[in-house]
Amino acid sequence: MANILVTGGAGYIGSHTCLELLEAGHDVVVLDNLSNSSEESLKRVQELTGKSLKFIQGDIRDPHDLDQAFATHKIDAVIHFAGLKAVGESQKIPLSYFDHNIAGSIQLTQAMERAGVFNLVFSSSATVYDEANISPLDETMPTGMPSNNYGYTKLIVEQLLQKLAIADPRWSIALLRYFNPVGAHKSGRIGEDPQGIPNNLMPYVTQVAVGRREKLSIYGDDYDTIDGTGVRDYIHVVDLANAHLCALNNRLNAKGCRAWNIGTGNGCSVLEVKNTFEKVNGVAVAYEIAPRRSGDVATSFANNARAVTELGWTAKYTLEDMLADSWNWQKQNPTGYQS
Ligand code: NAD
Ligand code: UDP
Repeated sequence: MANILVTGGAGYIGSHTCLELLEAGHDVVVLDNLSNSSEESLKRVQELTGKSLKFIQGDIRDPHDLDQAFATHKIDAVIHFAGLKAVGESQKIPLSYFDHNIAGSIQLTQAMERAGVFNLVFSSSATVYDEANISPLDETMPTGMPSNNYGYTKLIVEQLLQKLAIADPRWSIALLRYFNPVGAHKSGRIGEDPQGIPNNLMPYVTQVAVGRREKLSIYGDDYDTIDGTGVRDYIHVVDLANAHLCALNNRLNAKGCRAWNIGTGNGCSVLEVKNTFEKVNGVAVAYEIAPRRSGDVATSFANNARAVTELGWTAKYTLEDMLADSWNWQKQNPTGYQS
């Protein structure tokens, strides 16, 4: 069993991953500045598992915080979630995105080097693929120039980490390219709790269903897809969390830098998501058709064969599970962790 430093571990994907790490018998140290999360998620992770983790309120851009974390705890590997993730905001305040996501990742790897820790799992995104690629997207396809600054930071960090692993063979790095994480832990005790108006489809749907928002705007119904609405590869956050454990195992026995897609391989349209949500949960979601959102592609879904064969990972949950679990979380926590 290993001692894992989880940056951004109080957030949506991080908290689910901490839970799976603890369940698997690992020790967990979370470093998070709580800029987009609350310590309540970690309290609940500990309640659910009956195990404790260490929490450091700190910033990945601060070498002091990082050095202290490595000096106090004998860390074997790092899972790096910390960063900013709102696409629209990244267009308005690009320097913050460059600072947290790029400079923060550089600070983190420098601190890892000082501490002699060379195993890293990085949260990347399907957004790094060139938009001209036709789905299913596989890891051999070219990356492109993401249309927004958030995606750009993911691409840059991927490239930096690839170059780092080539230059210094001590490094062992996994780049996990997430497709569309949704859902929540079965208990409904932890889940996605976006601040302000949600950018992503799933939290918007659940907030309409719970009465916090009037109606969902579906961005475009004239794409070349099954029903004209955008098609994405939704992946249950617990399946995604488990992919990190598989990647850790893989990286503890390998060197170099390698990318894996983490998606189910199934594409679902926005209307399919809305209709299935209503059917599975017996609750209505008011909606309107709105203009296309700038920067969106019609279709994006994964070829996940590399993760299945090399990491021994599979996605266990169906779309119905994802939608039931998202609703279970939102229903129990209508205003998120503030409830
Ligand atoms: P989140 O905002 O819930 O979690 C990120 C966490 O990082 C938060 O707890 C926040 O407080 C913390 N944080 C931010 N800046 C920090 C800093 N400088 N120092 C320390 N902590 C900091 O987001 P999430 O959805 O859990 O995403 C986790 C990672 O996965 C992010 O890197 C995100 O870009 C990536 N990702 C997310 C999605 C998605 O749709 N959710 C898709 C692809 C990739
Ligand atoms: N979407 C939508 N209304 C919303 C949010 C998203 O119709 O309020 C659509 C969006 O156009 C895309 C899909 O839902 O086709 C997934 O969008 P999301 O922002 O969740 O993820 P993305 O794939 O863009 O990262």
